Amino acid sequence: MELLAGKRALILGVANDHSLAWAIAREFHQQGATLALTHAGEAFERRVRPLAAEIGVELVWPCDVLDDSQVAALSQNLSSVWPQVDVLVHAIAFAQREDLKQDFSHTSRQGFRLALEVSTYSFVQLAQAFSGLLAPGSSLLTLTYFGAEKVIPNYNVMGVAKAALEACVRYLAAELGPRGVRVNAVSAGPVRTLSAAGIAGFREMLRHHAERAPLRRNVTPEEVAKAALFLASDLASGITGEVLHVDAGYNIMGF
Ligand code: NAP
Repeated sequence: MELLAGKRALILGVANDHSLAWAIAREFHQQGATLALTHAGEAFERRVRPLAAEIGVELVWPCDVLDDSQVAALSQNLSSVWPQVDVLVHAIAFAQREDLKQDFSHTSRQGFRLALEVSTYSFVQLAQAFSGLLAPGSSLLTLTYFGAEKVIPNYNVMGVAKAALEACVRYLAAELGPRGVRVNAVSAGPVRTLSAAGIAGFREMLRHHAERAPLRRNVTPEEVAKAALFLASDLASGITGEVLHVDAGYNIMGF
């Protein structure tokens, strides 16, 4: 049985074939969803289009979330071809490289604002822009990390952005719930991707997680994607406002 047969899913955040959004796109495609993808600029369009073609996706649009007009155009374009969006996946984050290695107290106002605008506000912005396309049974999904809950060396402003993002999940879930729209997050363990490479000491983070997690390993992009599939599907019809850890159990350990 295909878990997303007949569903339309918009996925934001495919940068390349290592992106968690790409693993989610493949999983959703295998489970029968019709997809639309976005890219954050021309340079990335060159990478995203061939990937989209691999799974037969024709709807590929630009969407830099710092540009309100691109978000508005995306929702307009999509509404011209789809009557509704059943699943919206937000897999977007950004922080300046220097803010992911220096002391947290040195974060500049501009770096702080940029990280929270791209990584956190964009989720609210998309909920707003796509409100008219969300129907009972639709769901929104975002990706977060344990650095929202506990201090992770060098994660810094991104931890603050993810803490705010998880709060946004709850506020949006409370607001949209009466319309039958669910809002959830997957808290993924560390996975080697383009964004992750920007975090100083990421290799050490991977090693530490694998050593301490109850399953004694790191998670794969496919495992993150399967959890996203579950939350997006009707199997999770009673779940909203939830942050589901997919981290080989790392978050339960105290020492
Ligand atoms: P990724 O492949 O680099 O994906 C990050 C995406 O964010 C890219 O597609 C990037 O687009 C997009 N983005 C950045 N600025 C943007 C903007 N202004 N407008 C639109 N899109 C923008 O890395 P990833 O690890 O898969 O990240 C996906 C999500 O998973 C992020 O929220 C990340 O925090 C989260 N996550 C990752 C891990 C991990 O260990 N990898 C763990 C937990 C959670 P461009 O590259 O085209 O600019």
